[in-house]
Amino acid sequence: MASQSKNLSQGTIAVRGGLNTDDQYGSVVPVITPSTCYRYQEFATPRQFDYARKSNPSRRLVEQTVAKLEGGADAILTNCGMSAIHLVSVALLTPNDLVVAPHDCYGGSYRLFNSLSERGYFKAKFVDQSDPIALKQALSLGPKLVLIESPSNPLLRVVDIQDITRQAHEAGAIVLVDNTFMTPILQKPLELGADIVTHSCTKFLNGHSDLLAGILVFKDQQLATDVLWWANNIGTLTSSFDSYLLLRGLRTLAARVKLQQDNAQKVVEFLVNHPKVAKVYHPSLPSNLGHEIAKKQQKGFGSLLSFELAGQADVMPKFLKALNIFTLAQSLGGVESLICHPATMTHSGISAEARKTAGISDQLLRISVGLEEVDDLLADLQQALSVI
Ligand code: PLP
Repeated sequence: MASQSKNLSQGTIAVRGGLNTDDQYGSVVPVITPSTCYRYQEFATPRQFDYARKSNPSRRLVEQTVAKLEGGADAILTNCGMSAIHLVSVALLTPNDLVVAPHDCYGGSYRLFNSLSERGYFKAKFVDQSDPIALKQALSLGPKLVLIESPSNPLLRVVDIQDITRQAHEAGAIVLVDNTFMTPILQKPLELGADIVTHSCTKFLNGHSDLLAGILVFKDQQLATDVLWWANNIGTLTSSFDSYLLLRGLRTLAARVKLQQDNAQKVVEFLVNHPKVAKVYHPSLPSNLGHEIAKKQQKGFGSLLSFELAGQADVMPKFLKALNIFTLAQSLGGVESLICHPATMTHSGISAEARKTAGISDQLLRISVGLEEVDDLLADLQQALSVI
């Protein structure tokens, strides 16, 4: 699959995913196949698809397109980002196995690993992966699975995927990278050595904040086949209509990612110079943890950024109320600009103490910069900052 698309650029692969696959009518845009079951050719002879919990044509087109974009052998589309991470944990881990995850990973991933380990499904250890001693110590415990999330959520800290993967492989682990924030347009974890890439497709891959989906992309076909057995066993898969919408969203992925990134860079420059902003987090800033690694490992710095408001706790509600364009909502990667308060939203499932350890203060806000005209975005921030 990957070899056929070796010479095509990411933008072209994304635009053309699944086009011209209708042999019956020659429709350019692929047809939606809602059928849950598929007629056998004859006794004991199924066609390519037999029952839609395992696979179906609409879902398959998305899987093939994202596998090509990430340079993987195969992919499994699931009904949200968390179900993709859950699926891989259930498929790979037994009660004595250990998963090592970043201490500042997405709050939902933290909660999932933490709650399942408390119930004895497997063991989980959260570690600051930018701390070489802490990482080494965690890897010496012989984890079966290592999750890497770079840049991290919400502080956009960047870690060296290639180096951590090498160390994790030496320890005998399978490496899973959450590439939601970067997308394959800006970062290719499988090329950096990882075994599996996951995305919340709810975010940039769809880009329009109107469906939930997740994906796992595998370097190795056998691992994909093994995990697909579990996907069918549990039943984690996406509907045909959502698969169709996701494929449509993917067509503009490269264009969206580049424009949103350009807008974000201007927002970063504005915030860095504003007296009512105490600190800005974005991989483009030399002060950001892993800035040099980001320059080497990423094709761009992305459109997610975080910042801390100066002043006391009372400025937060005033600032958020004054915004007219940025919407207070806990997602990211859509064409519309969103703002989120991690401590009460995305990361509220993590204890206050764990948030403190991860550096997520109550004054922190995360922005997902969209495709609006950047001058309008800057003016909105300017007027909202002026009221605090
Ligand atoms: N991974 C990251 C980095 C995320 O930000 C999210 C959701 O915000 C997820 C995974 C989970 O995705 P979903 O909400 O589609 O289940």
